[in-house]
Amino acid sequence: MRMSSELHVDTLIKHMVKQLNIHAFRACFETDSSTDGKVPSRAAFCRAFEHTLKRLACTCGGEAIPQRSHDRDCPYNRLMGRDRAPNFVLHYPGPSGWRNGRLTVDFAFAGESVQLLPFVVFALDGMELVPNGSETSKLSLLEVLAIPDGNRIYDGKDRRLEMKLVGPLPVLHPEFDGKVSSITIKFVSPINLAYSGTSSVIPEFSTLFGCLWRRMVELLPEDLTVRNIRDVLGTREAMERVRLVKMKLKWRKTPPSGHDGSGKNGGIVGYAVYTGSLEPFMPLLRMGEWIGIDDGSWMNTGRICVEVHGN
Ligand SMILES: [Zn+2]
Repeated sequence: MRMSSELHVDTLIKHMVKQLNIHAFRACFETDSSTDGKVPSRAAFCRAFEHTLKRLACTCGGEAIPQRSHDRDCPYNRLMGRDRAPNFVLHYPGPSGWRNGRLTVDFAFAGESVQLLPFVVFALDGMELVPNGSETSKLSLLEVLAIPDGNRIYDGKDRRLEMKLVGPLPVLHPEFDGKVSSITIKFVSPINLAYSGTSSVIPEFSTLFGCLWRRMVELLPEDLTVRNIRDVLGTREAMERVRLVKMKLKWRKTPPSGHDGSGKNGGIVGYAVYTGSLEPFMPLLRMGEWIGIDDGSWMNTGRICVEVHGN
């Protein structure tokens, strides 16, 4: 009985993760040699990108009219709409991603939104960073690669986008992790655990998983989802077999970052170590590295990294 219920959770997670259909890419930029290794701050990059994307992708003009949101079918709205969770995520590493004059920025689309890839690539290529005091860096887009196969889908020199090289396969191959009995989860950017529906600031496994599940549900079409993972037979028992054994956390304040403009004003950063029967949960934890685990905006928030310690 116990075995079969665990299998049920396992199968459900794999199914949902597959439906999520994440496509991921890596943009490689060259920095102006005169900038001496300085790269734009996250805020400056974000502003420039969003501004350019709006210019290229908004077909409804919604931005220009106060109190009006974008039309539902407006490409900009489909990527970054404020009435629901954005299904486009951008991981901007800042100075830590700068090596040998190059900066790599990863981004991902959930579900059908990969069709909007051209808007994002041309926005990355066309954005202009506004110099701001010491931030005088200039970035030019060299190429965009598909993850994980490394196919070059865009060449910045001749500005050619090869959509046919965007494979039909999503990025995730969850079965790669094999048997896992211990992991460290790094909370890279402030994470709002209230998203799971609890008031806890301690990332117990069930809280963390609740956040991740909810985030995934928000990205999936409604008819494909089981809204509350705790309702699924055997989930509670499976979660109880994972223990939080160590953590080092602190609270970091942030500006409100919810996609509806309200959102959190802080969250935990640091890391936590979990042991136990983690296998059923690995596909979703891996997915969490791409989609984040809370209701923050499209850029970096709620970001986790998962380190597996084997068995
Ligand atoms: Zn629009």
